[in-house]
Amino acid sequence: MSSTADAPTLPKPSILDLSRSDLEREVVDSFGQSRYRAKQIWQAIHRECIADFDAITTLPKPLRSQLSERFTVDPLQKVMHLTSADGSTDKALFRLPDGELIETVLMRYTADGHRKARKTVCVSTQAGCALGCTFCATGQQGFRRQLSVGEIVAQTIFMQRIAMAEDRAEVESRQRDLGSIQGVTNVVFMGMGEPLANYNNSMAAIRAINDANGLAVGARHITLSTVGLAPQIIQLASENIQINLAVSLHAPDDETRSETMPINRRYPISVLLDACRRYVEITDRRIFFEYVLLKGQNDTVGHARKLGRLLAGLLCHVNLIPVNPTSDGPYQRTSRDDAELFQIELLRFGVPSTVRIEKGIDIDAGCGQLRERAIDAEDLGL
Ligand code: SAH
Ligand code: SF4
Repeated sequence: MSSTADAPTLPKPSILDLSRSDLEREVVDSFGQSRYRAKQIWQAIHRECIADFDAITTLPKPLRSQLSERFTVDPLQKVMHLTSADGSTDKALFRLPDGELIETVLMRYTADGHRKARKTVCVSTQAGCALGCTFCATGQQGFRRQLSVGEIVAQTIFMQRIAMAEDRAEVESRQRDLGSIQGVTNVVFMGMGEPLANYNNSMAAIRAINDANGLAVGARHITLSTVGLAPQIIQLASENIQINLAVSLHAPDDETRSETMPINRRYPISVLLDACRRYVEITDRRIFFEYVLLKGQNDTVGHARKLGRLLAGLLCHVNLIPVNPTSDGPYQRTSRDDAELFQIELLRFGVPSTVRIEKGIDIDAGCGQLRERAIDAEDLGL
């Protein structure tokens, strides 16, 4: 006896979980359609960001119905959406199909002397994080689960819809030329979670976001930030993709680093730096070191001197980030003047650095983490 009527209905998978080749296989093998149809579907979902199969009018109606029966498009349900008072930053909170919550941020930068205007999305790669850094709001909440490829890509698509709509509105009001509609220009994997602990899904999401027929964000405009998982850094070096790598260093010696970053006991600084040197050798690409300045903890001239000695001679750039205090964390921000002293000391060792200014601080409070760290090669005029 088989009664399907009583069987619980599983949620449909998101089409965003499929890579381009998965989609092609599905469309050709399961739906008996041509590869050309797969390309149309990919473009509709990933480039035009259409949220409903029925609205893909280039497809025959029966195929639209088949797609709707088999898949959903968007796995994210928007719970909250805030825009900062200065209009530069949007933050969205999403509920996933199983109830987990994640955050995504869009940061807008106007053109300045040496950089073009850009729109950067900061995506999450895990719900929570297992690594427990003491200054990090996500780390203090613990690990919930890995995000799927579709859940990562969908965050970018959500922000792309907003970015494209405002670009188009600017063209209509003649604040912009038609040719300058570009939507999201940069993506940083710096939201909740550790991307290299969700390696395969993060890489598949990067390839989807980079795809020329989809969102088409250039690899050099994509940055992945890691807590410093040494073996995966070496693995990343052999991926054939020119993304930027940011490594969260946050201290110049093992004692100081282990106090705030438990991962340092597994991959101490010597092991981490060996992996970084190997990465630079293989890729010939600069590494960005993130250094959150924690007042009194890692921000003295003595720490700067040690850091300078550690990084001297390595192809790298340091981003100094005054900490964004979390609600129950003990840390305070380093003053701008002290950050500049730190920077001057690093320069004596030939180590270049930038002090990051925060964006959207007024809407960042609940999160304590997703913030301005949009670093890419362009930033340095490379
Ligand atoms: N897990 C990865 C990526 C997500 S965190 C990583 O740790 O690199 C992205 C960046 O935000 C990291 O450099 C992290 O150390 C930093 N960060 C976490 N909490 C912060 C806080 N309260 N203030 C400033 N930066 C913070
Ligand atoms: Fe995890 Fe990164 Fe937060 Fe550390 S800083 S707890 S690795 S998300």
